Amino acid sequence: MTDIVQLLFIVIIATLLLYFGYSLFIGFSRNTHPHHNAPPQKGRPGDPRTCPVCSAKLTTGQRVKSSAFPSMNGSDRLMHINGCIYCLSGERKRICPVCGANLSIHEVLVARLFDKPGRSHVHVLGCSRCRPAGISK
Ligand SMILES: [Zn+2]
Ligand SMILES: [Zn+2]
Repeated sequence: MTDIVQLLFIVIIATLLLYFGYSLFIGFSRNTHPHHNAPPQKGRPGDPRTCPVCSAKLTTGQRVKSSAFPSMNGSDRLMHINGCIYCLSGERKRICPVCGANLSIHEVLVARLFDKPGRSHVHVLGCSRCRPAGISK
């Protein structure tokens, strides 16, 4: 009988040691990575970006509503930027970054979209007020 009690005792001690060892390990690994959440990774498609109309910081999944037109010369194409969920709902002011005009819901930004392999670059040319024709030659 004493052998069984001794065995049970050892098992309990082993379990306690495992438990404390585990929590120590968890605490240790937390302390050794203080900068784990600090530097945000950037440059990946689908990452947070800024709405060009209202400069709202957008999170993943929130997209800027825009429509691109067929390319004229093969390297870039014209696009109209309607805005994000914040400025399209009237929550934020819609400001043209070129002329500073206060845009209505129906006015859009005119931008040039440069299609590059891997990532595309958008250059805002103006809005439907300061660039009524849209296309610049
Ligand atoms: Zn916006
Ligand atoms: Zn403008």
